[in-house]
Amino acid sequence: MREAGLSASAVRTEIAAALSEDIPWTRVLNSICTEPHPLAVELSHAASHTNLGDVRIFRGTKRIERKAVALLLELLGHPQGAGSLVSGGTEANLLAMLAARQEARAAGRLTGRPEVIVGSTVHFSFDKIFSALGVTAVRVPVDDGLRLAPDSVAAAANENTIAAVATAGSSELGVVDPVDDIATALARHGVWLHVDAATGGFIIPFARELGRRLPQFDFHVDGVRSITIDPHKYGLANVPAGAILFRDQEAYQADSFFLDTPAHTTLLGTRPGSAAVATYAVLEHLGREGFVEITRTNFENTEYLTTQLTEAGYGLLIEPDLNIVVARVPHAAEVSRRLDADGWIVSTSKRFDEGLRLVVARHVTRDVIDAFMPALVKADHEVRAEVAG
Ligand SMILES: *Cc1c(COP(=O)(O)O)cnc(C)c1O
Repeated sequence: MREAGLSASAVRTEIAAALSEDIPWTRVLNSICTEPHPLAVELSHAASHTNLGDVRIFRGTKRIERKAVALLLELLGHPQGAGSLVSGGTEANLLAMLAARQEARAAGRLTGRPEVIVGSTVHFSFDKIFSALGVTAVRVPVDDGLRLAPDSVAAAANENTIAAVATAGSSELGVVDPVDDIATALARHGVWLHVDAATGGFIIPFARELGRRLPQFDFHVDGVRSITIDPHKYGLANVPAGAILFRDQEAYQADSFFLDTPAHTTLLGTRPGSAAVATYAVLEHLGREGFVEITRTNFENTEYLTTQLTEAGYGLLIEPDLNIVVARVPHAAEVSRRLDADGWIVSTSKRFDEGLRLVVARHVTRDVIDAFMPALVKADHEVRAEVAG
């Protein structure tokens, strides 16, 4: 540390220079997160001093968190449930797995080898969680559309099973598992069904309202016990804002997963009230209509991108449920590197050798797509010439 501090303006200059090296949103086609809503930025700034780890002090902020959770529970079909705002999908998924394990323990069902049933499209956060908790992942096949097959999930259930995870919008491909059919298939096994809707939670309810054919994925489905939803993705709140929601209040007493720490129901102790404020502000300000409009535009832009891709000769590798497009581009990894050098951020799909993965988040407008397409074609031609040459 410096002996004598720098002037505020010198620090500002350095930080501004660093921030200017970050890629602007208008060149980002790989991210599930997007530019936060200006009201979220403004009000989270106003709440930047708050700490929900101490609710004796921050009682007004705590009230806002409760209201935000209530709005999310209502959105997902179960106002009587319980939950918290957390740091993101990873912490939310961890808390769900802890609660499922604790319920098995309380019922005398916890064996020495706890298992959780997942598909191959499950988010990698679960690898961290299973390794931290000493839980074994039982991976079951997905169907041709890369969706978790309900019969395979039910067939994998046994006395070690503490939970099954369905994904409502995979961040890799935007695929939505048939949560309703999975719940039906699991019903007689009494297995805790957790839905990871970190990506789809703020899209699917509104897409269904727009008439898109997507399955029920939330508490409207009997048997869904917990849901992860991430306000810092399509909820347009700024990072870090995730949420974990439970159907039953009892499953969400602090002592259900953190024995002897009754004050906290989250993994983090000191945690930002600004996240609760940002989440609540956006939900209240946009309302259902606002989110439906954003979702409509998002799907229109996704269709615009797929049309542009097809006209340029790039087929799609999967039919997207949500706004994630995987285009067939030969030597996709090399094309991605070229685009990166040109200031465009895309990603490749681990599942397909020739898959270029493009996420049409809110900031990916028609103008962005119009600027991106020539860059893609140029990078592709250069790579082809190099490979041929
Ligand atoms: C983003 C995401 C996560 C992890 O959430 P973080 O907020 O990055 O911790 C988990 N599951 C899915 C489906 C996601 O899209």
